[in-house]
Amino acid sequence: MNLFTIDNEKCDKDGICAIECPAHIIEMTKEGPVPIKDAQQFCIRCGHCVAVCPKAAFSLEFLSPDQCMPIEKDLVLNANQVAHFLKSRRSVRRYKKKPVPEDIFEKVLAISKIKVLQSS
Ligand code: SF4
Repeated sequence: MNLFTIDNEKCDKDGICAIECPAHIIEMTKEGPVPIKDAQQFCIRCGHCVAVCPKAAFSLEFLSPDQCMPIEKDLVLNANQVAHFLKSRRSVRRYKKKPVPEDIFEKVLAISKIKVLQSS
């Protein structure tokens, strides 16, 4: 089985997937990206190749472009917001004996499903 598939009609051969792959297992050719020998063995299943493709041309067996959240530029944090978030973030918790509302639970579960897909 192939590690990934490329939609050749969408791929503009920019090589972003090959540049961004942290495992360095994608090679760019004139025909487009191809996995190196034994790539399957070295893939860490991060899904970065799919997420960074601006043309949504790249799919892994466990992750397709439509499973990647589009980046909403209006929601990207600026430097001050990032600093505030990181400095104010606390990891000490006191749990309440109160059930998590179902809608919040479902939202968190939906977010985590993408991570599960990537790591399974
Ligand atoms: S999932 Fe990660 S390691 Fe695997 S090919 Fe894509 S970018 Fe590389």
